[in-house]
Amino acid sequence: MIIGRIEHEAAEARGLAPWAARSAETRGRAHPQPAHDLRTEFQRDRDRILHSRPFRRLEYKTQVFVNGTADHYRTRLTHTIEVAAVARTIARCLGANEDLAEAIALAHDVGHSPFGHSGEAALDELMRDWGGFDHNDQSCRALELIELQYPGFAGLNLTWEVRAGLRKHRAASGERLDGHPIGPQPMVEAQIADIADDVTYHAHDVDDALEAGLIDEADLQELEIWRRAEARARAQGAGEPDDRRRRLAVRNLLDIQVEDVIRTSARRLAEEQPGSAAEVMSAPRRMVECSDELRAMIAPLHAFLFQRVYFHPMVARANEESVRMMRRLFMHYLERPDTMGRTARARIESEGLWRTVCDYIAGMTDRYALEEYQRFGLDAGRAG
Ligand code: MG
Repeated sequence: MIIGRIEHEAAEARGLAPWAARSAETRGRAHPQPAHDLRTEFQRDRDRILHSRPFRRLEYKTQVFVNGTADHYRTRLTHTIEVAAVARTIARCLGANEDLAEAIALAHDVGHSPFGHSGEAALDELMRDWGGFDHNDQSCRALELIELQYPGFAGLNLTWEVRAGLRKHRAASGERLDGHPIGPQPMVEAQIADIADDVTYHAHDVDDALEAGLIDEADLQELEIWRRAEARARAQGAGEPDDRRRRLAVRNLLDIQVEDVIRTSARRLAEEQPGSAAEVMSAPRRMVECSDELRAMIAPLHAFLFQRVYFHPMVARANEESVRMMRRLFMHYLERPDTMGRTARARIESEGLWRTVCDYIAGMTDRYALEEYQRFGLDAGRAG
């Protein structure tokens, strides 16, 4: 016996909460395609994203610490995989659609430029007169316009729900997609992917910063949430401060947040009782949230990460270097569009030169950007 799409759809109809998105009820794809015998529409989207080139390039893009500087730091890819795992956990506990939450989580960062947040800031500044640059919007461009997978149309032709989920920051704007409003709230699965991103990076950026020696455990003692994570680690048998206790504490840092999100959101859903995915979207506020207590503990952690990690001289220096390089590369392509790839050149007519150059550079991995920079002799200042 094969448990195929029909059975999966029946299991969703039976097993998911009323507020979950159901793949059989998708608003569909911009270009209709026949249903698959074995996989639901959201499973297909998850797989399409996973098998796409922008997804694979995440491996060589910087999360916080410049890609390739040490073996254990998160890259955009490992960050994304961790976010997807957390999103699945939350989705399963809340009776939401795991496949949809996972698909949105896997796609959420594909629009990131090389060199992390400083790379994004540099592109945004370069594009100031041309509509700016935002990694969320770029994820949509990458998957809906730039990737060429199917004859007859551009993009991966993802379902409405995944595309709407990737526009979560615009949900409140009244924007419509294929004629349907994408808000004012995102769907539960998009809310889950969103919060999974936050709680995941809070924990893993602490981990990477400890690993990098930018901070030590004594610095973290000022943070209530760390003290709780450490107390839990001790209760779980971790003795003197050492690597294992530290890792256990980092794991608890993630667990504390995920548990809080699940409990708080379950309570909210039980109170509000949204009867459908559409009711979640028209609700006055989000259903998936952390408690006020956790929020009060996360705010100082957030501030700590900004002060002590993201703008640490060691991180900032590597970033400044990258940003300088990216600017020169951008100027180079503006002057010599013929040196861009063929498919990028073909978009100049419809997208304009500046947007095409921006898309081209945004899609690059850190190392490819560096290779191009060297290939054109920009490091020697010849073509600057
Ligand atoms: Mg992310």
